[in-house]
Formats: sequence, structure tokens, C-alpha cells
Amino acid sequence: MNVVLLGPPGAGKGTHGSALSRHLGLPHISTGDLLREAIAAGNSVGHRVESIVAEGRLVPDEIMAEMVRERFQAPDTSGGCILDGYPRTLEQARMLETILEELHRRLDRVLNLVVDDEEIVRRLSGRRVCEGCGALFHIDNAPPRRAGRCDTCGGELSRRTDDDPEVVRRRMKVYRKSTEPLVAFYRAQEILREIDAIGPVADVRERVLGAVA
Ligand code: ADP
Ligand code: ADP
Repeated sequence: MNVVLLGPPGAGKGTHGSALSRHLGLPHISTGDLLREAIAAGNSVGHRVESIVAEGRLVPDEIMAEMVRERFQAPDTSGGCILDGYPRTLEQARMLETILEELHRRLDRVLNLVVDDEEIVRRLSGRRVCEGCGALFHIDNAPPRRAGRCDTCGGELSRRTDDDPEVVRRRMKVYRKSTEPLVAFYRAQEILREIDAIGPVADVRERVLGAVA
């Protein structure tokens, strides 16, 4: 089963992507994480995308297609995967179709996590990420047991530099303009499920799991 998690920054794609991954036993592929790994590694892709990600703009579709194509070569994706943050443009959606067709795979479901702008700002301003294992926290909604430390691996928690308010405003605009049209695109294919992503994480998780049952 191949599932796409769609939604604005802060909607809960990462949170529910990892829950779905455990539930379905499929890899969670976050293109944001892949890009941040490339930047941290300082490789050639990392150099090309670093300032784009820092400014909250979209990395060119060709670079993203290459990255996803390469990730799909790994055998753990043969039974399906949870895509988080990809596709983000109509062109990426068409490229994904081609990439999956080449592998004789198909997209089964797209879950659209719906949240309002005020909630996005609240979530991103309090988001903290473990530098060790990538686990997600929120200073108010999902605080770690020990301040500044990851519950899972004890790693240090930090704030993503692109969660700065000014960059968040740009990311929200980019979402509305470039990514939101995907909702209609996938609705027309009849694989879209709308998820009310407001409310306790456990409640949203139930809705997410229900949508892939
Ligand atoms: P995305 O991957 O879509 O950007 P995340 O999963 O990183 O979103 O969630 C953004 C922030 O909001 C994180 O700090 C997370 O802990 C928090 N969060 C996720 N889901 C909820 C929820 N249902 N209610 C409150 N906070 C949430
Ligand atoms: P969020 O969880 O807040 O939605 P991500 O971690 O998915 O953010 O993405 C962080 C940044 O990485 C984006 O603002 C963008 O610069 C880049 N990025 C991630 N995925 C894509 C993609 N599919 N196409 C273009 N840029 C991307």
C-alpha cells in the first residue's frame, strides 16, 4: 500500500507518518527529513538545496524526483510506503505517477490533514525535534518528560530553523499556491480522504488509521 500524507506545514504529517509506518509496517519517507539529512551530510544535493529549505521555498521538482526515485530503489519500499511531504506540486504528482508506474506500483490513498492557519502557527512555534532520532515533540501539546531531552533516545531537542515565524509565513503561502491544488487533483482520482486533523493526537491518529483500513 502506498499512501501520501498531504497537508500544510504543521498539520501532523510527521507525527502520523511515523504512527502509520508502525501500524502498517511500511517505511515512512519524509522528503523534508531526506533533504535535512543531505544538508547535514554536506553532499552535493545538500549544497544545492540548503538555502532553498532555509527560506521555506520549494526545492526544484527534478531534484525531488531523483531523490524519491533513489529511495524507491531500496527493497524496504517494495510492499509500499508512507510518503510525507511529497508530492508538493502538480508536476511532482505527475512525476510520482510515472515513477510508480515504472516500478509497477500505484498510489492507493491520499490523506489530506486539514488544519486552520492559527493552529499551524501554534504548532510550528512550539515544535521541537530530536537531533538524535528525529522524534517530534511540542512544548505544550506533546512535551517531553525531561525538558529539552528526547523521551525515546535521550537526544537533544531543537527547533527547526525554518520554523522561524517569517519563514513559516512563506511556507504557508507556498502551500496554498503550489500544494493545495493537489487536493482537487487527488479528489478527482477518488483516492483522497479528508481528515479533520484538529484535536488530541490520539483522536486524529484514530481517524488516520481508519482512513487506511
Ligand atoms: P508536519 O510534519 O505536517 O509539519 P508535525 O507532525 O511535525 O507536522 O507536527 C507539528 C507540531 O504539532 C509538532 O510539534 C507536533 O508535536 C504537534 N502536533 C501534531 N499533531 C498535533 C495535534 N493533533 N494537536 C496538537 N499538536 C499536534
Ligand atoms: P513540514 O513538515 O513543515 O511540512 P517538511 O519537513 O516536509 O516541512 O519540509 C521542509 C522543507 O523541505 C520545505 O519547506 C521545502 O523547502 C523542502 N521540501 C520538502 N519536501 C519537498 C518537496 N516535495 N518539494 C520541494 N521541496 C520540499
